[in-house]
Amino acid sequence: DTRHGAILYLDDVTVSFDGFRALNKLTLDISVGELRCIIGPNGAGKTTMMDVITGKTRPTSGSAFFGQTFDLARMTEYEIAHAGIGRKFQRPTVFEQHTVFENLELAMKMDKRVRPTLFARLSSEQEDRIGAILRLIRLHGHEDRPAGLLSHGQKQWLEIGMLLMQEPQLILLDEPVAGMSDAETARTAELLNELRGKHSIMVVEHDMGFVAEIAQQGKVTVLHEGSVLAEGRMDDVQADDRVIEVYLGR
Ligand code: ADP
Repeated sequence: DTRHGAILYLDDVTVSFDGFRALNKLTLDISVGELRCIIGPNGAGKTTMMDVITGKTRPTSGSAFFGQTFDLARMTEYEIAHAGIGRKFQRPTVFEQHTVFENLELAMKMDKRVRPTLFARLSSEQEDRIGAILRLIRLHGHEDRPAGLLSHGQKQWLEIGMLLMQEPQLILLDEPVAGMSDAETARTAELLNELRGKHSIMVVEHDMGFVAEIAQQGKVTVLHEGSVLAEGRMDDVQADDRVIEVYLGR
């Protein structure tokens, strides 16, 4: 069963490792165009959840749907990536020897619809797309720099730009501001707020100040022991006694 209007629908998903439930009847849905923050203490199941969504881990039971048609539990990682789920891991993995522009160009040409043009010159439309992404990721004017010379934060933005070049329908970001300076963190919040409504995005993040910045108009989901402990507006979630207990310890 899929859920109308949802880009992602996890229904009663359990993942057991030798009897231990990393996910325990997890049910969650993300609407098209939503920016959803996922928080939760270490071991809550956040990584396992993203592994299920990207096909790296199979649910032991339950189901996972992407859009109205894709049954994620029956797809390979490769098929899921090509169906339109893009994941950014914590550590940036840009091509350090290549320039910022080339990184975006390569990301675009890795898209199977564009790949036949790998050695062709960019069309003006493609150049415009790269220009728009450069501005969005705050790297306009840096396009000719080797990516290896960028700051940690700039590399993270470049990688978000590379994901966007592939036009995924759902973007998963794993701790995008880990290791960033305060100024970079603030700019990342601005960037994600600009993407709100245009892309469906799931952000797993520990930095609560950052979560508060990007969750003002959206929902936050708190995972704990493999299930949803609380979900709703940041203010409500923060004031929830069960959430406080989990974060402060009992
Ligand atoms: P989070 O990302 O929220 O910190 P994880 O999804 O990484 O949580 O882990 C949830 C729980 O599942 C943890 O207790 C972790 O030790 C356990 N776990 C995760 N992956 C495995 C695995 N491959 N084998 C056994 N236990 C695992």
